[in-house]
Amino acid sequence: MSKTLFQKIMDGEIPGQIEYEDDQCIVLRDINPQAPTHLLIIPRKPIPRVGEATEEDQSTLGHLLLKAGELARKLNLENGFRIVINNGSDGGETVPHLHVHLLGGRALGWPPG
Ligand code: AMP
Repeated sequence: MSKTLFQKIMDGEIPGQIEYEDDQCIVLRDINPQAPTHLLIIPRKPIPRVGEATEEDQSTLGHLLLKAGELARKLNLENGFRIVINNGSDGGETVPHLHVHLLGGRALGWPPG
């Protein structure tokens, strides 16, 4: 299986604006931000998408959400923020390596397009 874009950034093969990293995930600044804050929280484990996660991934998935909340507090997104996980083509997924979008810094519309 070829490496995804995010795997290449994690492996230092292509540049990326990494805002945070730990043993389970990296946090990347989105190259095409949809809000003043737009970060991608990406597990080191190359889970393709949430629909393919298994029981074994439970703590990894929890870590991603806890990290999103922690980052939102750190970035003072006290007016609110949104977490998005796109899954598959209808879901708008373009990179087949699970990632949690953290969006904030403006009022976000609902429903999504
Ligand atoms: P998705 O469409 O949910 O799969 O999200 C993929 C995200 O990756 C999009 O928001 C893109 O703007 C973002 N993206 C694509 N290439 C890069 C890159 N080189 N560095 C940071 N973000 C990227």
